Amino acid sequence: MAAGDNPAGNASTHALTPVTHTLRLEDEKVWVREYLGPVPGLNFVNLHDNENTSAEAAKAYIRVHGGRLIELEHGRGRTVVIRRQGVLHHFDPNRMFTEEGLKRSLDYFHNLSDENLELASDFARQVVEIIGLEPDRPVIAVHNNTPGKLTIHDFEPGQWYGNDTRDIFTNPAEDPDDFFFTNSPALFRALKSLRYNIALMKENPPDRGSLGNLVDALGGIYILVEAEHGHFQRQIAMLEDLGRLLGGTSSTPAAE
Ligand SMILES: [Zn+2]
Repeated sequence: MAAGDNPAGNASTHALTPVTHTLRLEDEKVWVREYLGPVPGLNFVNLHDNENTSAEAAKAYIRVHGGRLIELEHGRGRTVVIRRQGVLHHFDPNRMFTEEGLKRSLDYFHNLSDENLELASDFARQVVEIIGLEPDRPVIAVHNNTPGKLTIHDFEPGQWYGNDTRDIFTNPAEDPDDFFFTNSPALFRALKSLRYNIALMKENPPDRGSLGNLVDALGGIYILVEAEHGHFQRQIAMLEDLGRLLGGTSSTPAAE
């Protein structure tokens, strides 16, 4: 999309104000970029640095409607690394928000040590502080996937995220790579009625250390918006519909 193109029709677009927080993991630098829209609004988070379609879609939304995007930037791809004497120790930033999840992620990459756990935990605390979680401000995590790799079908019973899921709606006419996942029953019903692929998070879901786990544990509303890499217009349409349901501001939908 060219600069100035307007995904919302006739509303005007605005420049975003960037604020950069530089965090360190030993010799590694991670830039946590905060992009502020013209007015307060929805709160977007993009944790995986290689999922750029979702970050661009969130920015396009914010240019029109306001809000804020927090984006991790480091050029390493999906994982964040601790760099020590030239050696890279990986972890998944969407597994760092509980100690259990972080331990498992470091272990998965064969990088679990007390030192790495402490450094990565401290990094996670700083990111949480920048996101600024408040119970009445929904957190919208934007992600992208490759075709067929993570789909709405992974949330069906017996599948990878089946144990995380209380209810699910799949629309066979939709691309299964494009879907929502939320802990809000009200949003689940509303997005289902718009015929989106959507899964509803179980109460007390498995501890994966995800941002969803953290927001849910704090009593907030969490929405994951997942689309295939390159599905830019589709992801904007998803954000537009979500924004309308959330009132286009930081307010919450009807309480459950
Ligand atoms: Zn992701």
